[in-house]
Amino acid sequence: MTNRIGRREFLESAIMLTAASRLGAQTPANEWGSPVVDIHLHPRATVEANVLHLDGSGTTKAVLLTGAAAEERAKQTVAAHPARFVRFASYDMTEPDAIDRLRLAIKNGAIGFGEIKSQVAAAGPEMQRLYALAAELNVPLTMHFQEVNQPNSPGTFNTGLKQFDAMLKKYPKTTFIGHADAFWANVSADYAEDTSYPKGPIKPGGATDRFLGEFPNLYADMSANSGNNFLMRDPEFAARFLERHQNKLMFGSDCPCPDGKGGTTGRCIARATLTQLKTLASPEVFRKIVWENGNRLLKIRA
Ligand SMILES: [Zn+2]
Ligand SMILES: [Zn+2]
Repeated sequence: MTNRIGRREFLESAIMLTAASRLGAQTPANEWGSPVVDIHLHPRATVEANVLHLDGSGTTKAVLLTGAAAEERAKQTVAAHPARFVRFASYDMTEPDAIDRLRLAIKNGAIGFGEIKSQVAAAGPEMQRLYALAAELNVPLTMHFQEVNQPNSPGTFNTGLKQFDAMLKKYPKTTFIGHADAFWANVSADYAEDTSYPKGPIKPGGATDRFLGEFPNLYADMSANSGNNFLMRDPEFAARFLERHQNKLMFGSDCPCPDGKGGTTGRCIARATLTQLKTLASPEVFRKIVWENGNRLLKIRA
């Protein structure tokens, strides 16, 4: 008797396993409990090195943010793995032909602009030409906002985040995706633009929080140390922020580690940020941030 029940249970669990692996064939199995799209990955030296970071970090797909020098490599990666990669294009907006080259990049298969990281004011004429182009071509635009010089990223870029509402208002048809130090530090109302990664409790009412609430054309890229620092510095505030802006936030890594496990760098930012997002957000909100919002905004087939 015991044996027969045991056998029936064995058969039932075998059937369930088969069903689970069939499901797995449609939605790639994932340690995070949700498929993941990384909206901020820079191309590696080879096609397969890009795949290595995705597989190692448990990521399903990625957007390759590609400067002119890496455009061919990014094209090869998308061609070799069309279900896993799409690409954006970026040029330095101080170059006189930047607008023409960006227009051409979209024609040649890029699906967005970014990351745009130029040493100009965010409200300057070079950037305003780009905002108009992004609206005309109906593609999103990822911007690096940085007000403080730092060793890993010398200079300042797309300055003037605190006044960026003027641009959000002036270009309502442009889809802006904010990223980097100044974007995340300005969630706190007391950001004095004196450090890249401020610590401690967040003072409510900061520019980034207000802009995300007021402007439907602004989204947020949670990548890099800047996004991770925001999630870690005041977890209670961050949890409410994730809930409040759950349809505007997107996971990205900007991770430099080679293998999605922190090999050689000691830490994989993709893993660190996914872990913190999973801790702070409900399963439903987590899935939106790491998967649904990015696929919808970028019009990637899920
Ligand atoms: Zn950046
Ligand atoms: Zn990594």
